[in-house]
Amino acid sequence: MKRLSDIGTIKEILGRHGFSFSKGLGQNFLINPSVCPRMAELSGAGEGVGVIEIGAGIGVLTQELCERADRVVSIEIDKRLLPVLDETLGEYDNLTIINDDVMNLDLNRLIEEEFTGMDVVVCANLPYYITSPVIMKLLEDRLRIKAITVMVQKEAAQRICAEVGTREGGAVTAAVNFYSKPELLFNVSAGSFMPAPKVDSAVIRLEVYSESPYSLDDDKKFFTVVKASFAQRRKTVLNSISSSLGLEKQVVNGLLLDSGVDPRARAEKLTMDDFVNIARRL
Ligand code: SAM
Repeated sequence: MKRLSDIGTIKEILGRHGFSFSKGLGQNFLINPSVCPRMAELSGAGEGVGVIEIGAGIGVLTQELCERADRVVSIEIDKRLLPVLDETLGEYDNLTIINDDVMNLDLNRLIEEEFTGMDVVVCANLPYYITSPVIMKLLEDRLRIKAITVMVQKEAAQRICAEVGTREGGAVTAAVNFYSKPELLFNVSAGSFMPAPKVDSAVIRLEVYSESPYSLDDDKKFFTVVKASFAQRRKTVLNSISSSLGLEKQVVNGLLLDSGVDPRARAEKLTMDDFVNIARRL
């Protein structure tokens, strides 16, 4: 078995296949040998577990997942990487590569077809241009998954893992907390990738709730309130919600007071319970 995280091996394989990196597809491949084993271990990949990976690259993380999990399905959009992956991971019979855009896939169906009787986790070094849409798709599709362990830009990691109700938090923090318990696991320097991106990264883990603790008749209302509250985050929540949703200020004022929320507060001061209470009355 070749050690794929060895930079000499990676350069030799990519050179032989005439591969050139696509910036547009967020292709920054991991070359730090300690990162992938650590990510795979912390993701929960193991006996009786199926793993979904997004973006195989040349397979450096995929290999670590295949060594640990019962089954791995890796979704890779770039068809130029298929012959490379055939060479690097061809020996693993517990691996399926799907050549598609993750945003187009029915992941509930994929889980049903590929992971019968297994616990399922997601583990990926995400392409940075679609970090938030991918995370929100994984959560909003209400997939039968236990946890999501992903590498993202350090700033995004800090935002996602911030406390709701603090300056560091944002709409994505509240959205992620609705479905899961986020945790920042460890930082990864820009030099751990080829080509090196401009900023550092971090690995986060979202422990997905089987049922959200914030029960609502219509979850969509929660997201409507969160988005409207943060739409103009420097303004008061009264002004931000009324202008975003096109509602009379007087109406929104009453709604906020009934929900126990100070209309002059900014969105970043609101807690999960505040957003839920407003959504219930909307
Ligand atoms: N896992 C590899 C590693 O750690 O070295 C590659 C990670 S690289 C940051 C992101 C990978 O995602 C690239 O291989 C890229 O081609 C792939 N990718 C980009 N957009 C995608 C999409 N919409 N669906 C599936 N894969 C995508």
